[in-house]
Amino acid sequence: MYTIIKRLEISASHKLTINYKSKCQNLHGHNWIIDVYLGSEKLDENGMVYDFTKIKQEVSEILDHKNINDVIYQPTAENMAKFICDRLGNKCFRVKIKESEWNTAIYEG
Ligand SMILES: [Zn+2]
Repeated sequence: MYTIIKRLEISASHKLTINYKSKCQNLHGHNWIIDVYLGSEKLDENGMVYDFTKIKQEVSEILDHKNINDVIYQPTAENMAKFICDRLGNKCFRVKIKESEWNTAIYEG
C-alpha cells in the first residue's frame, strides 16, 4: 500500500448559514492549510499514486482566492474536507483542513 500526502494552502472567503447568532455568518476569510491523503495498492504507469501537481490543480484552481460559497453549499471546514476528498476520487481517503491554529476538521471517506 502506498500513501502520499499533499499539503496545500488556499486563501479564500466564506460565510456560514447557522441557526444561532455567530460571527461566522459574516463574510470573512481564512488561509486554510489542507492535508490531502491518497492511497493505492499499485502505482500508475508513471510510478505515482497521484501526481502532486494535479492534486494542487484540482483543489487550488477551484477554491483558491474564491468565495467558497460560490462552489460549496454551507462551506464549513467539514463540508470542504468532504468536497475535496470526493473531487480527488476513490484514492483519497482522508482530508484534514486546518482553519486556524485552533480549529481543524478531518473527513475520512
Ligand atoms: Zn470561517
